[in-house]
Amino acid sequence: TDSDTADEAVRATCDDASICKRFATSKGYWKDPYIQYFVRQIGERKAPEINRGYYARVQGMNFLLHAFLRKTACDCQVVNFGAGLDTTFWQLKDESLLPKKYFEVDFPMVVARKIHNIKTKPPLSKPIIETHSTDTLLIDGHSLDSDRYCIIGADLRDLASVNDKLKKFQLNPELPALFLSECVLVYMNPEQSSKLVHWASDTFHTAMFINYEQVNMNDRFGQVMIENLQRRHCNLAGVEACWSLESQKERFLAAGWEGADALDMMTVYGMLPQEDVARIERLEFLDEKELLQQLLQHYCICWAIKDKHKLGLSQVAF
Ligand code: SAM
Repeated sequence: TDSDTADEAVRATCDDASICKRFATSKGYWKDPYIQYFVRQIGERKAPEINRGYYARVQGMNFLLHAFLRKTACDCQVVNFGAGLDTTFWQLKDESLLPKKYFEVDFPMVVARKIHNIKTKPPLSKPIIETHSTDTLLIDGHSLDSDRYCIIGADLRDLASVNDKLKKFQLNPELPALFLSECVLVYMNPEQSSKLVHWASDTFHTAMFINYEQVNMNDRFGQVMIENLQRRHCNLAGVEACWSLESQKERFLAAGWEGADALDMMTVYGMLPQEDVARIERLEFLDEKELLQQLLQHYCICWAIKDKHKLGLSQVAF
C-alpha cells in the first residue's frame, strides 16, 4: 500500500544519516569508531557544507546530552526515539558516562538490522556483554535487552505499544529521563508527535526532551527542502511544527513541559567550542559560505524540561 511505501522510505532515511555521518567522520570532523560497523564503505563524497551541517548536528546534540548527564550524574535513563543506527551507547560506554539504562526505539525492521550487526560484530557486542551482569541477555529478532542497553522494535505512532514495551524493559518513571529525537518527529503527523511528547511529560516528573529537525520551512529554501524529501516519497506529515522556532517550542509547552528553548543551527554553530569549529573549517575548503548559512538556518535543536527534583535542568543551555 501507499503507507507501506511511505514507511519504507522513512526507514531508509536512517541509512542516509549514517552514510553522511560515516563520510564526515572519515574526513575527521569528529570521531566515531563504531559507525564503520553499520556502514561498511565510506561511500561517495559529500559536499563540505553537508559535512559541516552534520558536524553541527552531532556536536549540538552531544553537547546537550552531556549537559544532562552531568546534571544527573548519570543517575538517569536515556531514550532515543527513531535511533536508527546511532552509536551513542558505545561512545558513552567508552567515556564512562553510561546512564543507568540506554533505550532505543525504531521500526522493527530497522531494529532487526541493527541487532544483526551487533550479533555479528564483536566490537559492538562485547561492550553490551561487559556491562551485563547475568547470563540472561535477551536477543531476538526485534528486541535486545541487557542491563544497560535496550533496543525495542515499535512504531512510535502506536503509543500504547511503545509504552508497554518500555515498561516491560524497566523504564523507570521515578528516575530522571532524557528523550532524544533526531530527524524523527517530522515523519509523524502533529497529533502523533504531540501524543508522544505528552506521554513523556506525563510519565516523568524530571525529564528533558531534545529534538533536532527542520525549521523555517516556510521560505523558498525550505520549500525546496520539502520537495526534495517528497520526491523520495518521504511523508513529511509533521512539517507543520517546522515552520518556526516558536512552533517547535509550542509543541512541548502545549504538551505539559515546564520550559522549552529552541535555536537554529546557525546559532548553535556559533556557540559550539570555537577552537574545534576552527579545526573543522580547515578540513575542507568551503566556497559557498551562504549555502552553509542557509542550510544551518533551516535546522534547529529544541529542548524542553520538567524538573520536579530541582536538578537545575533549566540551566542546561549552549
Ligand atoms: N536518529 C537517527 C540519526 O539521526 O542518525 C536516525 C534518523 S533517520 C532520519 C529517522 C529514523 O526515525 C529512522 O531510523 C526511522 O526508521 C525512524 N522512524 C521514523 N518514524 C518512525 C516511527 N513511526 N516509528 C519508529 N521509528 C520511526
